[in-house]
Amino acid sequence: MMVNTDCGSSPKKMIEIDWNNLDQRRCITACLVKGSYVLESDQTKVTQLAPAWWQSFHFRRIDVLECACECVFCKIFGPNTWFICGVVFEYVPPEGVPRHPKAPRYIVAFRGTMPRDPTIFGDMRLNLRILLNKQHLCSRFSEARKLVRQLVSSADCDSTGSTVWLAGHSLGASIALDVGRDMMMGEGFNLPTFLFNPPHVSLAPAANVLGVPEEAKRDVHLGSYLVKHAMGKTILRPQKKKMEAVFEKLSSWVPELYVHQRDFICNGYIDHFELRKQAQERCPRVAKSAATLAYRDLLHPCAVSGFGDKKSGRQHLLPSARLWKNSNPEGNAHELRQWWHPDLILSSNLYSWP
Ligand SMILES: [Zn+2]
Repeated sequence: MMVNTDCGSSPKKMIEIDWNNLDQRRCITACLVKGSYVLESDQTKVTQLAPAWWQSFHFRRIDVLECACECVFCKIFGPNTWFICGVVFEYVPPEGVPRHPKAPRYIVAFRGTMPRDPTIFGDMRLNLRILLNKQHLCSRFSEARKLVRQLVSSADCDSTGSTVWLAGHSLGASIALDVGRDMMMGEGFNLPTFLFNPPHVSLAPAANVLGVPEEAKRDVHLGSYLVKHAMGKTILRPQKKKMEAVFEKLSSWVPELYVHQRDFICNGYIDHFELRKQAQERCPRVAKSAATLAYRDLLHPCAVSGFGDKKSGRQHLLPSARLWKNSNPEGNAHELRQWWHPDLILSSNLYSWP
């Protein structure tokens, strides 16, 4: 595979794709997500730059996810502006080239926040909803779930559903994560999912900024697990039962999480999985029950009572994932462009459940 990775420019030439190669999968899905950003920004431009981001890889655009802005200005002054938030791409191998058994048929890519676009107000509203774990009911999330459900049912998927892939960056990674969970929970379809800089809401980044030593973090985490374990036996018992069933259903879904060590938006996932693993080694029984719970559940009457809010759960509480960590000391740690570099050096760890 050959990809031009000049900063900001689109990929120029493609020779052959090895769909078994995990690095090539990363580069291609990252480029398609970039295509979803550029397609939205092309709306206001004469020159259309977006197609180069998918045509080089033999994809064609077959559908877009357009959502009305739900920001406070649109709500008060209306009418709502519509923005492109996601794109459905179909992979059509070049003539004479047989379809690779591991190749996707469709990739659905979701863009993240666009600071220099009018969509910023709607994007920031959603980012706030993610911070409060209230994103599940926002229309961009619900429309994305609807779109992918329709696509999977029309795509003649096998029992795994692996002909449809999901990808997203930042806010878009939150959407892809929500859709992937929904497909696994509802339909039992295990869609390959590529999440670039997915937001993780926790106190871990603050601890890192304050320079809390690793040993202290481990002890605090284990102490916190003991508290959660106790709560799971008492006040959060209904929530624990519900989340254990959720983990059971989701455990075979292994999304690819691409995180940068310096990116405070997503680096909570590093601590989340590394500390969970250490707790599993030290106290497996405690870790098994505590890992399904979040302190924020205490603020949620549904969690304590066990009623309502059945599907949203705690989005960041993933039973399984492959975590790809970029530790490069240079560059913007949250930008998408780092992920389509073919020679990127990453460390990876597979976390499985239980
Ligand atoms: Zn708006």
